[in-house]
Amino acid sequence: MIPAAFEYYRPQDMDGVLAILGEHGDDARVMAGGHSLIPMMKLRMADVPHLIDLQDVSGMSGIDVGSDCIRIGAMVTQADIIDNETLTAAAPILREAALQIADPQVRYMGTVGGNVANGDPGNDMPGLMQCLNAVFHLIGADGERDVPAREFYEAAYMTAREDEEVLTGITMPMPSGGYAYEKQKRKIGDYATAAAAVQITKDGDTCTSVAIAMTNLSDTPVYSEAAGAALVGTSVDDAALKAAITAMLGDIDPTEDNRGPIAFKNHVAGVILRRAIERAWSRA
Ligand SMILES: Cc1cc2nc3c(=O)[nH]c(=O)nc-3n(C[C@H](O)[C@H](O)[C@H](O)COP(=O)(O)OP(=O)(O)OC[C@H]3O[C@@H](n4cnc5c(N)ncnc54)[C@H](O)[C@@H]3O)c2cc1C
Repeated sequence: MIPAAFEYYRPQDMDGVLAILGEHGDDARVMAGGHSLIPMMKLRMADVPHLIDLQDVSGMSGIDVGSDCIRIGAMVTQADIIDNETLTAAAPILREAALQIADPQVRYMGTVGGNVANGDPGNDMPGLMQCLNAVFHLIGADGERDVPAREFYEAAYMTAREDEEVLTGITMPMPSGGYAYEKQKRKIGDYATAAAAVQITKDGDTCTSVAIAMTNLSDTPVYSEAAGAALVGTSVDDAALKAAITAMLGDIDPTEDNRGPIAFKNHVAGVILRRAIERAWSRA
């Protein structure tokens, strides 16, 4: 389908972006890679009279790996994540997850910022960022503010970001221990039926910390504190795995759709989480 008519803007800096957002309010929308927004406009599910392309805005494309934290610009693409060896050495779960998003064509255009700002429960990076305890940096007419990923998502396509705010980047503490991003999908290039992000640490044979987040099993990503708590202090044996899966199932709220009925999704969520924990534990 063809989208409705719109004005196209390509400002050179953030002041230009904020000026257009200030002038047109929720009639204006920023575009990053366009691989979620343009399809929505073509399907007439998004009405965007004023489209602001972020491609020329400087300062949003860097990846900085510091000694204790990582900063990723909002315009960094999924392909940039996959190709960055320093980032992969520091936080390999990012590459493992990015490789499971869509296909190479989409990954060359789709950005980290667009993926997390979109608010689509099917996007993979929101849950990943919750697992990594990331913080989102926003800028608007009233200045800058930070929102933790674990507090950002309110409902499907509803986030803590105001319409006039732009996501500039993401910061996360340096992850440690074992990791795994496990995703079940119907076919290559598909969104998740269920996905799990796990980051885990151990001392000897004892689990000392774990972060678990699930994707596409509720109208927001689900950071399951209870699932993590079921593993800490254990040797991640079968009883602990079962307890973690039971706790996670209490936190998710899947709905029936073309990816399957609720019982199937709960089953897949359990299988996916077990695999993710076991792989993360083996790498810890
Ligand atoms: C065939 C296909 C398969 C896909 N499969 C997957 C998949 O398996 N997993 C997955 O996670 N994604 C998938 N995607 C989505 C893809 O990864 C998108 O590119 C991504 O979700 C959005 O990134 P974008 O840069 O294209 O954002 P855009 O489409 O440009 O924007 C998306 C939304 O975020 C807003 N936005 C963008 N950037 C900012 C910013 N900096 N600040 C504030 N708001 C912003 C826009 O206004 C818009 O509302 C798929 C897409 C396609 C076309």
